[in-house]
Amino acid sequence: MSVRVRFAPSPTGNVHIGNIRAAIFNWLFARHEGGKFLLRVEDTDLERSTPEAIETLLECMDWLKLDYDEPAVYQSKNTQRHLEVADELEKKGFAYRDSRGGEGECVVFRMPAEGELEFDDLVKGRMRKKAKDLQDFVIVRSDGSPVFHLANVVDDIDMRITHVMRGDDHVENTFKHLELFRAIGSKAPEYVHLPMIVNNQGKPYSKRDGAAFVGEFREQGFLPDALFNFLVLLGWAPGDDREIMTRDELIEAFTLDRCKTSAARFDIKKLTWMNGEYIANQPREEFKKEFLARMARAGLPATPLFADLDSVLDPVQPRTKTYSDIPSNCIYLFTDDFPFDEKAVNRRLKKEGVRELLLEMAEKFETMPDFTEEALELIIKEKGESLGGMGAVVHPVRVAVSGVAEGPGLFELLVLAGRERVCARCRKAAEMAD
Ligand code: GLU
Repeated sequence: MSVRVRFAPSPTGNVHIGNIRAAIFNWLFARHEGGKFLLRVEDTDLERSTPEAIETLLECMDWLKLDYDEPAVYQSKNTQRHLEVADELEKKGFAYRDSRGGEGECVVFRMPAEGELEFDDLVKGRMRKKAKDLQDFVIVRSDGSPVFHLANVVDDIDMRITHVMRGDDHVENTFKHLELFRAIGSKAPEYVHLPMIVNNQGKPYSKRDGAAFVGEFREQGFLPDALFNFLVLLGWAPGDDREIMTRDELIEAFTLDRCKTSAARFDIKKLTWMNGEYIANQPREEFKKEFLARMARAGLPATPLFADLDSVLDPVQPRTKTYSDIPSNCIYLFTDDFPFDEKAVNRRLKKEGVRELLLEMAEKFETMPDFTEEALELIIKEKGESLGGMGAVVHPVRVAVSGVAEGPGLFELLVLAGRERVCARCRKAAEMAD
C-alpha cells in the first residue's frame, strides 16, 4: 500500500511555523516513500477561512515549495457527505440526538463508558487514556454543521490517508477519531504526533516570543530553503552531525524512526546562522536582486560610491545573515551621508584618545606609499602594539568608515573605499569621538 499523507490546515490568515512544520514532515515523508502528499483545506469556519486567508496559505506553501500531488480538497465542499455519515452513525446507534444547552438538537457521538483507550503512535509509542476521561462529543451542531472531528475523519477516509502526522496538541483528538473510524467501519491511518515547538522557557512558542508566522520570516529576509531546513530539525535529526542539508538530502534521510519525542526548542540564533549560510551560497544574481529590492524599499541609493556593485557585494554577501539587515548594514557603501549606529559609537568612538587616534590614522593613511591590504595591516598592527592590541585601532576605524560595528574584513574594506574617502571619514568621525 503506498503512502498517502496530507496537510490539513484551518486557514486563519496566518500560517504558524508549527503548522507548516507538520506540512514539511508530511511532504518529506511522502517524498521519501515515493507516496503522495495532499492538501486539504479545513475551511469550515467560514468567518476565519476567508478567500484571503486561503490565498495566504497557498502562497506560503508555494514559497516553501511544498507541492502537492492532487488538486486541493476543500473541506467545506464535503458537508453533505459528512452529514450522511452522521446519519448512518445515528441509525446504527453510535450517535444520538441531544439538545445540549437547550439550543436545539445536535448529534452526539457515543464514546465507550469504561475501559482504556489506546493506540500506537509510530513515534511516541503506545498511548493510553481512560475512557471515563473522554466524554461523548458533538459531531453535528444544532445548526446542522458538521464538527471538526467528524469532518477530519471522514475526509481522511475518503482521501485514503495512510498516515496522519500532526502536532502533539491533537493526541486527545486522536482517541476520539479512532473511535469514529471504528464506528464507521474504516481502517484508521497510522498516527504520528510531532513534539511541540517551545520557547527558551519551555513554553509553547507563540507570537509573543518573536516571529511565529511564515509571512514574518519571509518579510524579515529569511530564505525559504533555510526556514525549511531549520524547521525539519525541530523534532527530527538525520542521525549524524549534519545540519545544513539540501532538499534531496533531507528526502533521502527522512525516516520516522529519526523523529523525536521531546519538545523542540525554537532557537532564532540557529535559524539566523543557517540563513547566513544559505545566503552565502546563493547565486550572486539572486542575492543581487534581493539586495537591490531591499535598498530600493528603504529609499536608499544602490550605486556604490566606490568600485562596481559586484566588488562591493563580494564581501557583503557572505556576511549577510538576513535580508532585512541589508539597508542598515550597507548604506555606508552607497553614500557618504550614512547614519552611525549609536551602540557602536558609544562603545568604539566615545573613548579617551580615540579622537587623536583617528586623526593620526588619517594622517598615516594619507602619507603611506601604497594603499594596499598588506601595507594597511602593517600600519594598523604597529599602532595597535602601542595600544595593547590591534582591536584598539581596528574597531574605531571600522566604525568611522562604516558607521557600524561589523562588516567585511577591515583591510579589504579600506582598500575598497579608497584612500581619500577613508581619510575623510576618519577625520569626520574624530569630531564625534571622545
Ligand atoms: N485543521 C486541523 C489543524 O490545523 C487539522 C489537524 C490534522 O488532522 O492534521 O489543527
